[in-house]
Amino acid sequence: MNHSKFDYDLLVLGSGPGGEGAAMQATKGGIRVAVAERYTQIGGGCTHWGTIPSKALRYTITSTMKALRNPTFREMGVHVSPTLEQMQRGTQAIISQQVSMRQSFYERNNVPVLRGNARFLDEHTVSIDGCEPIRAKHFVIATGSRPWHPPDVDFDHPRIYDSDSVLNMAHKPTTMAVYGAGVVGTEYASMFRNMGIKVNLINTREKLLEFLDDEIVDALAYHLRDQGVIIRHNETMEKIEGTDDGVVLHLVSGKRVKTDALLWANGRTGNTDNLGLETIPLEANSRGQLVVDEQFQTSIPHIYAVGDVIGFPSLASAAYTQGRAAAMHLLGKVDGNLRINDIPTGIYTSPEISSVGKTERELTAAKIPYEVGHSLFRSLARAQITGETTGMLKILFHRDTLEILGVHCFGANASEIVHIGQAIMNQPAGHNTLEYFTETTFNYPTMAEAYRVAALNGMNRLF
Ligand SMILES: Cc1cc2nc3c(=O)[nH]c(=O)nc-3n(C[C@H](O)[C@H](O)[C@H](O)COP(=O)(O)OP(=O)(O)OC[C@H]3O[C@@H](n4cnc5c(N)ncnc54)[C@H](O)[C@@H]3O)c2cc1C
Repeated sequence: MNHSKFDYDLLVLGSGPGGEGAAMQATKGGIRVAVAERYTQIGGGCTHWGTIPSKALRYTITSTMKALRNPTFREMGVHVSPTLEQMQRGTQAIISQQVSMRQSFYERNNVPVLRGNARFLDEHTVSIDGCEPIRAKHFVIATGSRPWHPPDVDFDHPRIYDSDSVLNMAHKPTTMAVYGAGVVGTEYASMFRNMGIKVNLINTREKLLEFLDDEIVDALAYHLRDQGVIIRHNETMEKIEGTDDGVVLHLVSGKRVKTDALLWANGRTGNTDNLGLETIPLEANSRGQLVVDEQFQTSIPHIYAVGDVIGFPSLASAAYTQGRAAAMHLLGKVDGNLRINDIPTGIYTSPEISSVGKTERELTAAKIPYEVGHSLFRSLARAQITGETTGMLKILFHRDTLEILGVHCFGANASEIVHIGQAIMNQPAGHNTLEYFTETTFNYPTMAEAYRVAALNGMNRLF
């Protein structure tokens, strides 16, 4: 690398998982790396407004409400109704742990974190908060995304929230509308319901989370409804009216839904508007996202983009892998083993959902002769012992080669369980089959045993 013309070989914009993955991989490759971050702390939206606070909140709600529903507490006369703010109290400690751990990565690897908003001045130069220009040979844009705000919705109204501001909700509403039934909307709807709030989940599409396997989607819809969530599909917002005592959601269909508060969870936009892209020139699409090729290069080859700013799948897990892949490419060390397209889905609703690989819909459309093996959690000893009997593991496999094609799971710890299937699915041909599960001894009682049960169930369907 020619060090003379540039202050850094790589300047990463953003310190979320995408930026961190790129920065750490690049510094290990021996080049001079710096990261620009405009927020006061590192970690990105992932640590401060997205993954970490929402998952910490979910854990607190689930464990607290489970304890409060315990008949022993009731008999003891314990009747409390915690607010969201009370449930949030432990979250800050987790965020602080995450920030200090991640800060140590940058310190240990001598990667400076430059504080302020980075803006391009030309293809190799950015200024941070308008200060001294910094020149770098390569850039990775990992500036993330934020909730999209339609212009006619008043987000300053104290009862209208988005997924960032909902974390500061001080009171506990009795009723809540969630507009948008994507991953964020569905997860929050599930959390609110767990707290005893009456929830209306308004879906703009025909089904919940259409990218999932149909059987899993149906199970999710069934269980949410069973818990008392009202789901309305195929609805579109006409207007949202904030009043003194609530929010009225007017739908194009003529329906009106009045609740104490509303969470807007319909779409996100990439953080590209403050980057000075017009000076490079690089254009973001209508959702503020950047288009990249398979190596995560934008149309300007030394400027890469990763994570939420490039859109789907908009997951912290994927952003980190993409950041590493971009760094490897710019180091000239393309690692064919980094599975950038093998991204599992983890959805932290109640029940939890996770999947990897193809769905039945995709396999049917591709005319692949597959078969299905099921295991219901209620028939597993471990689930019976823990009382977490809601759930199912489903393995899709090729009926001739027995290769595993997809793994879909819902129920307690689904997001962990799926990785066993993912590991086998990714083995080379001949080792990636159902036979691993029929021939392996599993600890007993475990949830992992679901794989053996599902595999035998699938084998029984073959003729
Ligand atoms: C409620 C919610 C729950 C979620 N749950 C999950 C989950 O369970 N699992 C999962 O995998 N994903 C989850 N996600 C998604 C996940 O949070 C994102 O996919 C992930 O944060 C994207 O990482 P990133 O590095 O692209 O961007 P971010 O984490 O958003 O980081 C971007 C960083 O760039 C900084 N920045 C922006 N512009 C500039 C600039 N011009 N100069 C300097 N710095 C800048 C920002 O301040 C920010 O720190 C969730 C998201 C939400 C909203």
